[in-house]
Amino acid sequence: MKAISALLEWTGMIGLARRAIAVGSGLVLALHRVLPCDEQNLCYNPHLVLSEPAFVSLLQLLRQEYEVVHLQDLLNNPAGNFGHPKVAITFDDGWEDNYRIAFPHLLAYQLPATIFASTGLLDTPQLLPEERFARLWTQCASQSTLEELVVDLHHWGMGKNKNRRLHPGQQYWSDELKRMPLNARLLLLDHLEQRYQIPLLKSQRFLTWEQVRIMTGTGLIRLASHTSRHATLSSETDRDIRQELEDSRTALWQHTGAVSDILAYPNGMYNRRVQDIVRSMGFKAALATCPGFVTRRTNPFAIPRIPVDNTTVTHAGAQLSTSRASVYFLTSGLRSAVSF
Ligand SMILES: [Zn+2]
Repeated sequence: MKAISALLEWTGMIGLARRAIAVGSGLVLALHRVLPCDEQNLCYNPHLVLSEPAFVSLLQLLRQEYEVVHLQDLLNNPAGNFGHPKVAITFDDGWEDNYRIAFPHLLAYQLPATIFASTGLLDTPQLLPEERFARLWTQCASQSTLEELVVDLHHWGMGKNKNRRLHPGQQYWSDELKRMPLNARLLLLDHLEQRYQIPLLKSQRFLTWEQVRIMTGTGLIRLASHTSRHATLSSETDRDIRQELEDSRTALWQHTGAVSDILAYPNGMYNRRVQDIVRSMGFKAALATCPGFVTRRTNPFAIPRIPVDNTTVTHAGAQLSTSRASVYFLTSGLRSAVSF
């Protein structure tokens, strides 16, 4: 991949392809956390992290080769100008480092971004359910109680996904947990944390509303809905889906004074029923996590995004590879174009 990226860059093919794409398509990038190199390993999931130096290099690349616009502008008209495809930067969840690390660089480069926040987690010491499970798994692994934990998980009705029974490691159980309705998932996590004596973590993982106000006050950063508690919407009842969306929209209105009519599906999971409810509540667009370009023909309730993290665009987890990133953006978009 490295050699192919270098070859394409050297022959100028990337530039040609980029110009061709700009005619009718835009890209939406999906990031989560931006962390200094010495904090990267503290995050429970490497697919959530882009290193700070790689993020700065990414902003430089985007400024040179693309036209960075607000997400709403891209959705209104995805076609770019002058051979520079439009790109919109998005962050999911509302991590505190979006303010502490990413925001100063966005401000310095004057580049806009949208943060999809799970509003019920902001300004609280809560962790994402996914992180709580990762801590539980790690502690059980270190105390040699994983087998016991797996017995418990089966006892609570999990582990019925026949397709993936062969390799039931941490990722398998984490995915299983994501498919539970959120209220049941939180109760199960409470129970297991108590049973395995997981220590409480006093840490501010997510943005405060004050930080949100500072960022949105610049006009560069906009907030949008990622539900209230990071619920996997396809696993919830109609009533609970509406509640999650309404709570999140109300909180955004109260704290930012702006109406949020764009949603990012937590865990990228949705189905026709979810799309219909989202549309019926007045949302104008909803973003997924499957890669692809955005065109005028894209379904507004299944907007593709290209995941950006250390595993997709850097060498050795810290420095951005511009050729790798450029090829990755193109191939990610084209892959979906072919599969449609
Ligand atoms: Zn999320």
